Amino acid sequence: MFLKKLRNLRHTLALRLTLWYGGIFAVSSIVAFSIVYGLLAAVVQERTDEELEDDLEEFASMMSTEGLASVREEIAAEVLEEEATNVFFRLWGPDGRELLGPDLSSWPGLAETNEILSKVDSTEEPLLETLDLPGREHGARAVAGRIGPNFVLQFGQSTEDDEELMAAFRNGFLITLAAVVLLGGPIGWFMARRALRGVDEVTRTANEIAAGALDKRVAVGSQGDEIDRLAQAFNTMIDRIQALIVGMREMTDNLAHDLRSPLARIRASAEMAMINGNPGTQDEATLAANTTEECDRLLEIVNATLDIAEAESGAARLNIADIDLAEIVRDACELFQTIAEDRKITLAADLPEHCRIRGDRQKLQRVVANLLDNALKYTPVGGQVTARILDEGAQIRLSIEDTGVGISPEEKTRIFERFYRCDPSRSEQGNGLGLSLALAFARAQGGSISVQSAPGEGSTFTLAIPRLQRSG
Ligand code: ADP
Repeated sequence: MFLKKLRNLRHTLALRLTLWYGGIFAVSSIVAFSIVYGLLAAVVQERTDEELEDDLEEFASMMSTEGLASVREEIAAEVLEEEATNVFFRLWGPDGRELLGPDLSSWPGLAETNEILSKVDSTEEPLLETLDLPGREHGARAVAGRIGPNFVLQFGQSTEDDEELMAAFRNGFLITLAAVVLLGGPIGWFMARRALRGVDEVTRTANEIAAGALDKRVAVGSQGDEIDRLAQAFNTMIDRIQALIVGMREMTDNLAHDLRSPLARIRASAEMAMINGNPGTQDEATLAANTTEECDRLLEIVNATLDIAEAESGAARLNIADIDLAEIVRDACELFQTIAEDRKITLAADLPEHCRIRGDRQKLQRVVANLLDNALKYTPVGGQVTARILDEGAQIRLSIEDTGVGISPEEKTRIFERFYRCDPSRSEQGNGLGLSLALAFARAQGGSISVQSAPGEGSTFTLAIPRLQRSG
């Protein structure tokens, strides 16, 4: 269950947006941090270098004004103040001999005298270097240069303080980044969900409409943003579709209405010709009989269309009375028994003795007859059709189960449309109106019809109807 939810989540735009925003934010923060870090490191080193150069200049002027002894004293004082582990000083005389004998044990691996002197000789500028000495935890920055015409001084200081500053800056950034990712994830998710809620609403409404609720509309917000405009456009589209459907229905209803009278008159004339006409040729008799029969079929279509229109529009007058649904089904089964026997189908009824409800007898009789007729029509020889009543108290369920050809999932919703027939070859007689009529009659009485089916195995049509009806 949880895994399935997680898998569904993967396909949400909200999650993708959150991840994209999170990723872009993290990458841009890291880039920004790297730039600031680089600048800061440069500023820190520049400051140290300036200090070192200033100190070297001071030593040079001290050498020229006060002499070597003062320089030595000053160096000793500095080492004392800063501690021998944090600073080092090296001083060479005119003959290249090291003049100081200070404790350099904390500074292993300092460059050889020759190396330093030749480097200093090669340039006028003070020689600034970063020293990465083995065995020392922190690095150091050092300067070397001439003080006075004959002396060379090199001194350096540990960069521990600077490194600590940079480390604090790094840690501060990492903590901030972690906090932002931890908080930003849920907040981003919440924002994305909020922004997309309108899209979910449109999807839900579209699904409801697809399931048949054509009068549903999406609630349009007042902000006039993209989602509101989508909802508005969606509603306008559905309005238009609904208007087209209503228009088409009205047209078929009007057509059916206008066809009824001429058809009835043609039928009456043909029937009269059959009954009263002078005995004519065989062809004339056949023509009259065929005309009557075809008129009957056309009138059946016209009447069914008008009955559906009437029931759907709510204009149908219901004749609600106390009726026994078990009796209606039993009578219908008896009526269809002969057809079932002709087709070698076992028609069984699993019914309670009585099932008293309030409903329109005639309309329910037509619903039951349509469902039974279909079950027998679409079940091959040797099959079985069973009618059952399930009394659930406030609601009654009447199911007609068959072992027939079944209906594919795609056609399950379509079979209730007017004139829809699954079999394109139309091998069975019918006009595609039976189920539309049954559903319209069921709905007019507060009921519904559902279908369960497996192609090749059979179908079960279930009429669910409330036991009590308001008299209409
Ligand atoms: P028809 O006059 O064609 O029977 P209906 O509206 O009663 O019209 O049914 C619509 C279509 O639904 C039928 O053409 C048929 O293909 C399918 N159908 C209805 N009932 C069954 C059933 N019990 N088993 C299989 N298919 C069915």
